[in-house]
Amino acid sequence: MDDTEILAGALAFHGHRCWASTAGVRLGLAAMETLGVERAGSKQLHAVIETGDYHGGMCFGDGIQFTTGCTFGKGNIEKSGEGKFAVTLFDKSSGRAVRVAYRPTLQPRIKASAFMQKRAAGVPPTEIPDEEQMEVVNLVWNAPAEEIMTVGPVREQAWVEPEEVVRFAVCPGCGELVAEPYLRVAEGRLVCAACSGYPR
Ligand SMILES: [Zn+2]
Ligand SMILES: [Zn+2]
Repeated sequence: MDDTEILAGALAFHGHRCWASTAGVRLGLAAMETLGVERAGSKQLHAVIETGDYHGGMCFGDGIQFTTGCTFGKGNIEKSGEGKFAVTLFDKSSGRAVRVAYRPTLQPRIKASAFMQKRAAGVPPTEIPDEEQMEVVNLVWNAPAEEIMTVGPVREQAWVEPEEVVRFAVCPGCGELVAEPYLRVAEGRLVCAACSGYPR
């Protein structure tokens, strides 16, 4: 696949065309090129993306997933939950990593676009005309790399797979089995998330 085929594939996978998924594709490609690696068919790469939950622009993660092959299905990607638009890509075989961060130079133009005006007014992206979707995609796709991203230095940094916790407890609330790291403390008892009554 050449880069435009990758973009087309990513947008088809994503479901609509938007700046953040396009930024994910460009940053993902830049990270792979910097490390000199191919898309992970298996788990050769690991990605940490800095987006969080329930905020605009999370679409970034789909661009990263499609481009790098680091996917939530394979388990070789995770979110650090900082509400930021950056990815750290690890190449497991060489023990190297690079962080690529999105630069907000285009945001005033993106914000002023018909697409984002409609998004801000609550229109779902799929109900925005194709040409208005493509306007923001093309802005991000055609910008010079140095304008829209900062590529950090390649670091010697191995991806260390967190150790599996193999301890479980029986929740006193529901009697079901729960892995220890997921226990919550509620009124002094160690219970599962559902029984804690706390928001997830
Ligand atoms: Zn999107
Ligand atoms: Zn429970």
